[in-house]
Amino acid sequence: MTSRSDPRHGLSSASKVEQDSLCKGAFLAQQGIPSRGSADATKGTERHELEEREVPLEDIVDDEDRECSRRARASLEYVREKLNIPDSSTISRELRFWLKDGDEELLSGQVDYVETWDKTALIADYKMLYGIHASAHNNVQLAAYAALLKHEWKEIETVYAALIEPFGEPRLSTVVFTSGELEKKISELIKLYRVVYSGIAERTAGHRQCKFCRALGICPEARTYVMELINE
Ligand code: SF4
Repeated sequence: MTSRSDPRHGLSSASKVEQDSLCKGAFLAQQGIPSRGSADATKGTERHELEEREVPLEDIVDDEDRECSRRARASLEYVREKLNIPDSSTISRELRFWLKDGDEELLSGQVDYVETWDKTALIADYKMLYGIHASAHNNVQLAAYAALLKHEWKEIETVYAALIEPFGEPRLSTVVFTSGELEKKISELIKLYRVVYSGIAERTAGHRQCKFCRALGICPEARTYVMELINE
């Protein structure tokens, strides 16, 4: 299963936690099925890179890319000001955190923006394309990022998490996690991925989990689900 050239080491990632929770067999079902890249995905990656490299706005050629970065930076600054973050804070971008059970890796997540001070962290996840995303309070991916950070950086007691959607409505939503909440999420994730990687996890079809599943075209459970919807 493990490939060292793969930054995820052949494992699932925080962006897949919602799918893995809803259909525990989805990870296994998608093995060996390549993902099809899209122009949208490429554009999203390019815009993330502009933030990772902190490219000055005046150097961003494309008008929409520049507006995307301008809005993303304004939202981030708004949160930072609200939190009154000291100048002594430490900022990292595109940092990958790992969830392990003992020495065994189970899950990772690469966080767009991480800032720490005292025993507190701010993380931000950018959604750089048009589209509808669960806001911060209901965002499973964001909660997974916070849990992964806490798992690696045990001294952190509070994690503020911001979902920044430059072209969304709202453009910014936030949530805060306490140490206790994150410890609980870590336990839940370990339990979930013990099942996901068991090799016998059941498939459960549904709109949210099947929509972006690479196994959709060959999955009997999904086919039955669609037929039941048609016959309703
Ligand atoms: S298509 Fe749906 S039911 Fe089938 S493996 Fe993927 S998520 Fe699960």
